[in-house]
Amino acid sequence: MPITPDQQAEIDALRAQPTQTLRATAPGIEGHLYKAYEVLDHGFVRVIDYMGDDSAIVQAARVSYGAGTKHVSNDAGLIRYLMRHWHSTPFEMCEIKLHVKLPVFVARQWIRHRTANVNEYSARYSILDREFYIPAPEHLAAQSTVNNQGRGEVLQGEEAERVLRLLRDDAMRSYDHYEQMLSQDGQQGLARELARMNLPANVYTQWYWKTDLHNLFHFLRLRADAHAQYEIRVYAEAIAAIVADWVPLAHAAFEDYRMGGATLSAKALDCIRRMIRGEQVTQETSGMSKGEWREFEGIIR
Ligand SMILES: Cc1cc2nc3c(=O)[nH]c(=O)nc-3n(C[C@H](O)[C@H](O)[C@H](O)COP(=O)(O)OP(=O)(O)OC[C@H]3O[C@@H](n4cnc5c(N)ncnc54)[C@H](O)[C@@H]3O)c2cc1C
Repeated sequence: MPITPDQQAEIDALRAQPTQTLRATAPGIEGHLYKAYEVLDHGFVRVIDYMGDDSAIVQAARVSYGAGTKHVSNDAGLIRYLMRHWHSTPFEMCEIKLHVKLPVFVARQWIRHRTANVNEYSARYSILDREFYIPAPEHLAAQSTVNNQGRGEVLQGEEAERVLRLLRDDAMRSYDHYEQMLSQDGQQGLARELARMNLPANVYTQWYWKTDLHNLFHFLRLRADAHAQYEIRVYAEAIAAIVADWVPLAHAAFEDYRMGGATLSAKALDCIRRMIRGEQVTQETSGMSKGEWREFEGIIR
């Protein structure tokens, strides 16, 4: 269960106590504050706090005394210019703090993004819940035959049942042993910090994760990408939807230049120029490796 009724009541109580502030607020994200958006089978993402909006980016870029231009078209143009020219520090003026519940193997990928502030639930101090990520049937897939770092065909029938049974049995057995090992119920047992070590990587953890918009965009570029593992991509997509409401102009520029755009090497640019001149360019005449050429074709076709 992503959120228990008690936790929901705590969240609702926070939403029921709005305060007045002189700070700039972003109407689009106010509606997301404290709400938990379910991700995977037991996970969620919720916005705890944020700072700044599209105007904060413009203000910082101009080192302005006021709220910036008031003209959305001017702000959009400047934000697009900043994004296009990698003038990134104005985007660092916006920050967001999230509460995320996620499987440990997803957390291991996520934590590699070092430019964030993190505080994780302590399994030395608290007992972990019996919650494990078990993929939905459509996400149970075999190793890809073309990509060493990816999945291919979705498992069917008995094979899907066999794998699911192993995943569920292992999760339940290891949690039973975890409970049996803990120093509780009158037995000496093991400290929480030790008993947890037999739990599998699909057990859920939680953290508060705070980052600025520049580094968040970097995270989203890598993790909302179609090549990212599905289990982290769904978190990135949930966050991206919130960001689109928070800073719509910056998000639109990010979608255009980063998510939808492409970086071309000098060789690739040369090929495009030759193609425009009418030359029939092939991988052999491109100067690119087979892999590079495949990716290049993926971009231009
Ligand atoms: C598809 C994919 C596959 C991956 N596979 C693997 C893998 O097989 N093994 C593996 O170990 N990792 C893997 N990673 C993780 C990857 O190498 C990065 O660690 C991760 O994406 C975080 O990126 P980052 O370092 O740019 O982000 P952040 O840590 O947030 O850093 C942001 C930027 O800050 C700068 N920066 C931060 N810290 C430093 C520093 N100490 N020195 C210099 N500059 C710094 C860099 O410019 C960096 O790009 C993979 C990532 C992806 C998206």
